[in-house]
Amino acid sequence: MPALILDGKKLAADTESELRARVSKLKEASGKTPILATILVGNDPASETYVKMKANACTRVGMESTRVHLPETTSTAELLEKIRELNANPSVHGILLQHPVPKQIDERAAFEAIAIEKDVDGVTCLGFGRMAMGVPAYGCATPAGIMSLLKHYQIPLAGKQAVVVGRSAILGKPMAMMLLNEDATVTICHSKTQNLPEMVGVADILIGAVGKPELIKTAWIKKGAVVVDAGYHPGGIGDIEAAGLSEVASAYTPVPGGVGPMTISTLIRQTVESGEKTLGK
Ligand code: NAP
Repeated sequence: MPALILDGKKLAADTESELRARVSKLKEASGKTPILATILVGNDPASETYVKMKANACTRVGMESTRVHLPETTSTAELLEKIRELNANPSVHGILLQHPVPKQIDERAAFEAIAIEKDVDGVTCLGFGRMAMGVPAYGCATPAGIMSLLKHYQIPLAGKQAVVVGRSAILGKPMAMMLLNEDATVTICHSKTQNLPEMVGVADILIGAVGKPELIKTAWIKKGAVVVDAGYHPGGIGDIEAAGLSEVASAYTPVPGGVGPMTISTLIRQTVESGEKTLGK
């Protein structure tokens, strides 16, 4: 049987259509739309592109976004001040701080400054803790988008051996907790993991979130595994080797068109939910 393509681009487009209707309903009822505030610090071209893509997605669903662009030399105190202003602004429903921020900034402190009710990108410790404990919270956008994709394609998770390669705060760790919450048996691998090929080889569900082009080889992957590649590198290369993947995997995410669009649609969906909570009252 040919491998199933987990088409994030299509699911994200379908999600946007639903969100467009919800935003329009909210606008009719309250005269207002949800607003996402995006914060970009510095001039990293990739980050600029991501922020633009997120603002464009807001426009597509009929929502507004407001962009805060701070200089490369911004201090932690200056960034925290800006975040506090956005927290206090009642017309802002969600705050996205584009990651990574310049080295002099304490990124964790900046994430923690985001008010929990506006943490639509799911980056605060409180949001992570709530999610991990099964208490309602906005999920971290990339892993939550991956979970939506797996659910949409009805990929069985309970009792399956999931292997997450990568343990970052915004991807690997929350991914592992989300899979655990769905009763998968989860292994997290990282740069100190011994025998990565063998660890990858036991995965029924494999998540590549390692940030290195094609580090994970097709030859390591068990026949029939479901393979999700969160990586994206210049030239449309993921963290998992693409050659031969469709012959080994039972289902896989394309790069591009898999995880990336799901991250954006999850961020927008969670901003709409935040807007509904306040504007819908
Ligand atoms: P990150 O912060 O750099 O984390 C990478 C993780 O991979 C770390 O936990 C690191 O381990 C681990 N690692 C590095 N080299 C390894 C090796 N040789 N063997 C095993 N593990 C290794 O990256 P990230 O922010 O989580 O992003 C991961 C990937 O996802 C990147 O390709 C990024 O572009 C992509 N991404 C995509 C989206 C999207 O929307 N599509 C969003 C976010 C990220 P240590 O902890 O031991 O250092």
